[in-house]
Amino acid sequence: MAYTQPALPYAENALAPHISAETIGFHYGKHHATYISKYNGMVAGTPFDDQTIEDVIVATANDPEKAGLFNNGAQAWNHSFYWNSLSPDGGGAPGGQIGEKINADFGGYDKFREELANAAATQFGSGWAWLVLDKGQLKIVKTANAQTPLTNGMFPILTIDVWEHAYYLDYQNRRPDYVSAVIGELLNWNFAASNFEAAQV
Ligand code: MN
Repeated sequence: MAYTQPALPYAENALAPHISAETIGFHYGKHHATYISKYNGMVAGTPFDDQTIEDVIVATANDPEKAGLFNNGAQAWNHSFYWNSLSPDGGGAPGGQIGEKINADFGGYDKFREELANAAATQFGSGWAWLVLDKGQLKIVKTANAQTPLTNGMFPILTIDVWEHAYYLDYQNRRPDYVSAVIGELLNWNFAASNFEAAQV
């Protein structure tokens, strides 16, 4: 079925100075919107047309003949998840259950932060860095291009887009500075906590 672009959960300038309104304008308004319109054009009239976008992503993940549908569908979904992974009130160490789980599974917030930053910095080329729940354990994974942990049976908790279009206007080649700003100032731990809770039901 057609996928509708969710509204941005904040104003385009709300993440500045860490991510500028100009970056969000292009990233949400052009890149994400284009993935969605391409996905909707490709899925229409196919046997996938009555499935949710998550089911289509999982069903097409390893089929080279469906690469266009997978890539655009996964990018549509990944970006919606990314907008929610950021908040103008985000960043820092989380409290509550998710904070305790971070401490238990990573050996403390600083270790978690280091591992996430390292994954985001070392993803070669375009892709994503993720905090996921995998078989009851929080882990950091990175994925290339449109790849998403949804297809590996993992529960995404948070993500950072490390495609150049996510940071180039603001940081040029300094991806680690963008990642540091996202982790330190923007990660939405309320969204993470609700994903963590939902993954355990
Ligand atoms: Mn992107």
